[in-house]
Amino acid sequence: MKFENSYLFAKQMDQNDSLSHFRNRFHIPVRPNGDSFIYFCGNSLGCQPRSVRRFLETELSDWEKLGVEGHFLARNPWMPYHEFLTTSTAQLVGALPEEVVVMNSLTTNLHLLMVSFYRPVKTRFKIVIESDAFPSDAYAVESQLKFHGYSPEEGLIKISPREGETLIREEDISALIKKEGKSIALILLGGVNYYTGQLFDIKKITALAHQKDIMVGWDLAHAAGNVILKLHEWEVDFAAWCSYKYLNSGPGAVAGCFIHQKHVNNPEIPRFAGWWGHDKSTRFKMEHGFQPIPTAEGWQLSNAPVFSMAALRASMEIFDEAGMEALTEKSKLLTGYLEFLLKSLPDSIPLEIITPANPEERGCQLSLRTFENGKKIHEALTDSGIICDWREPDVIRVAPVPLYNTFWEVWKFVQILKTVATDFQENE
Ligand SMILES: *Cc1c(COP(=O)(O)O)cnc(C)c1O
Repeated sequence: MKFENSYLFAKQMDQNDSLSHFRNRFHIPVRPNGDSFIYFCGNSLGCQPRSVRRFLETELSDWEKLGVEGHFLARNPWMPYHEFLTTSTAQLVGALPEEVVVMNSLTTNLHLLMVSFYRPVKTRFKIVIESDAFPSDAYAVESQLKFHGYSPEEGLIKISPREGETLIREEDISALIKKEGKSIALILLGGVNYYTGQLFDIKKITALAHQKDIMVGWDLAHAAGNVILKLHEWEVDFAAWCSYKYLNSGPGAVAGCFIHQKHVNNPEIPRFAGWWGHDKSTRFKMEHGFQPIPTAEGWQLSNAPVFSMAALRASMEIFDEAGMEALTEKSKLLTGYLEFLLKSLPDSIPLEIITPANPEERGCQLSLRTFENGKKIHEALTDSGIICDWREPDVIRVAPVPLYNTFWEVWKFVQILKTVATDFQENE
């Protein structure tokens, strides 16, 4: 695609965009002056689908009218409520229905999955994460190590970019696996790194690790709903993600998790159990003696948080309609256009895109390293009606999402960025 830096070109792209009507399915946050924000923060908290209210009202009114009977008699019975999400969730991450379940929150799921899949022994107990892993993931693995009697100093390997570089090289991950594989029990990486926006080759890294009998888990917080995933085919052991980012299900929304088919029906795998993971046909006999459901549902602890799941259903309905193939196709154009426009900024504006330039190695987010006045530029952007975010020490993350962002917004954003950044340069 040959991009052009003009208002008319951006508008033309929007006119030719077969997904443009999806924007109307969302509430875009509004500025005090009544205009919509240019909302590039769907990687942090997605916009609210307009249908969320209807989905929630259905459950509120059934609760109002039916009380406890709603577990069976609600229009969408609450007892099996999580099952309404299975098909779309499986489709979203490239899984079999038996491999996915929606439950809890992301960090909770990471812990539960590590209980099952981080099984350290004397000679093999180390965990590999990214050196700039999301803090919650780092806390989770450190506490898992300690729980098993290892210190993070002896048990945690943080894979980092080379000196003077920002991205982790896949060849370095591969070299680490070859060299230290025998001592590594678990590799847990972010599918898309939250900071740099780097998308790892999940299939390749998983396969390399398996050659050394290492368990591989993926945190897909920034990948689910952003990039194409084929977790079953790639033989990923387990994965977890939240659904308030690209999945637009609201603050603190219920999370997702994936456990590969080869593990779901293995009763030898230890787990922390709860009644909702118990065989459905005998659950309400209220007997003791845990018999896990032989699918990912067997990892559930508690009955379904129906309101949170109702919001997620509203959002997944939109993903089902749009389809990840079409969404990623638009996403590549939208982010490609953003990249093109950023590259055409004058050299006097000191900004560096640290996200990989290869569209196959990123999702929709571009991370911009600022060299001077970064925080002030970010504040000025916000004042000008743009919502993107600031990540210490020096990065502005910008995520145009294909469901509700437009080419015009991308163009306008870069115009404003140029004005704002030039002002700071001139006032030095
Ligand atoms: C957003 C995010 C989290 C947040 O964890 P919660 O348990 O949902 O609060 C954790 N890890 C990564 C990589 C994230 O991007």
